[in-house]
Amino acid sequence: TVSVVLFTSDLRLHDNPVLSAAVRGSDQVVPLFVDDDGVRAAGFDAPNRRAFLADCLTDLDAGLRSRGGHLVVRGGDVVREVCAVVTSVGADRVHVASGVSAYAARREERLREALEPLGCGLSVHDAVVTALAPGAVVPADRDHYTVFTPYFRRWSQEGLREVAPTPRKISVPEVAAGPLPRRASVKGVSPALVEGGETAGRERLRKWLAGPVAGYEDGHDDLAGDATSRLSPFLHFGTLSAVELVRLARREDSPGAHAFVRQLAWRDFHHQVLAARPAAAHRDYRPRGDRWRDDEREIAAWRDGRTGYPLVDAAMRQLAHEGWMHNRGRMLVASFLTKTLYADWRTGARHFLDLLVDGDVANNQLNWQWVAGTGTDTRPNRVLNPVIQGKRFDPEGAYVKRWVPELADLERKFVHEPWKLKEADRAGLDYPEPVVDLAEGRARFERARGA
Ligand code: FAD
Repeated sequence: TVSVVLFTSDLRLHDNPVLSAAVRGSDQVVPLFVDDDGVRAAGFDAPNRRAFLADCLTDLDAGLRSRGGHLVVRGGDVVREVCAVVTSVGADRVHVASGVSAYAARREERLREALEPLGCGLSVHDAVVTALAPGAVVPADRDHYTVFTPYFRRWSQEGLREVAPTPRKISVPEVAAGPLPRRASVKGVSPALVEGGETAGRERLRKWLAGPVAGYEDGHDDLAGDATSRLSPFLHFGTLSAVELVRLARREDSPGAHAFVRQLAWRDFHHQVLAARPAAAHRDYRPRGDRWRDDEREIAAWRDGRTGYPLVDAAMRQLAHEGWMHNRGRMLVASFLTKTLYADWRTGARHFLDLLVDGDVANNQLNWQWVAGTGTDTRPNRVLNPVIQGKRFDPEGAYVKRWVPELADLERKFVHEPWKLKEADRAGLDYPEPVVDLAEGRARFERARGA
């Protein structure tokens, strides 16, 4: 018997229940990746993720080759391509991970309909992308959790699935491999984008668990210290398994590891919200009737990292340079855009998706909504102040100085408030005046929100 493994957000050999089930259940397996037109059309095709994806596929192919197989790559409509492969090798089953987006649900439905007439079954596997499947824990009175803390309590008590064995040998039937995408051919990639792939991800994970995770509780908000795991892109592409990560981190049993596991639960939390409310990818989860200002000049300053607020600008420039931003930075710049500038969260989410290597429909859209106050935050009207945040999370100004070289020579007390410099010193900096007054922005937001 032959089965097809359709890789989606699970580009790994370790702890991959989709691959393990296929290898266990059939003599031969076609490990297939389809560069899906539908994903591109949905606006998820951005250079940083495309480059990272190319690394992931190259590495996956190498891993499969070392086990006697290889990756099969196709481009086009995912359902059509899967059916073509199924027909050409005479497969009787397709295995795929369940997804949470509306797109993934539709893909599953279309696959089922198209495969049936071919006499081919579809197996959809849960808890591949997330640690717990969305819907695995639900409150008594509704279909999903809307508040993180009770969700986390239940999530922590729930047993995880077993780690799936890594196949030692993979036998692939006669089928053309197709061209592997190459990172070098992707244009417009951020200069300091990390290398992708399961091998790189496992190495990063090993180093993270061997030491730095212990300092995570104290250090995760230290912007200059850069003391978070940076595993998000690997989780996004599924080169690392969330189940394996939670299991390994739990073994560490330190306050840092506990705090880290809690963040992984946030990831599951947003996925279960999106699975239950797919429209939240585009529409307010809690509609408030906002009349966003959407001032183009202000939005452009935000995008370019030239708002005149050093911490906001530093974070936006980190995003452009690395295709990644520290979580504290993400919260601040999102608050600044949606509350201080009072611009539509979708504008910010779009820009993030254009650049973030970990850009993800569940985590990005729902974190944006969380910060904007249209989502699941229980304090939807809080506004983060870039000066206060700077003094707290970048007290030496080192993060600002790293990303905003115009301010590199400032004394510490001016780093987060360059407008307090003497007129003559201020004039010498090639750095903009604040795009809006903070108090004015806050008052405007509070008036609009009736807060
Ligand atoms: P760590 O601090 O090491 O955390 C470990 C892992 O936990 C992360 O890799 C991530 O998978 C998960 N995690 C941590 N915080 C969150 C969170 N708040 N929500 C969901 N999962 C979390 N994360 C994405 O993966 N993709 C996105 O597109 C994304 N967009 C965001 C947009 C905004 C406006 C905000 C405020 C946050 C966003 N996040 C997103 C969440 C978070 O900022 C990143 O996951 C985190 O910064 C990644 O860095 P890390 O791997 O070093 O995280």
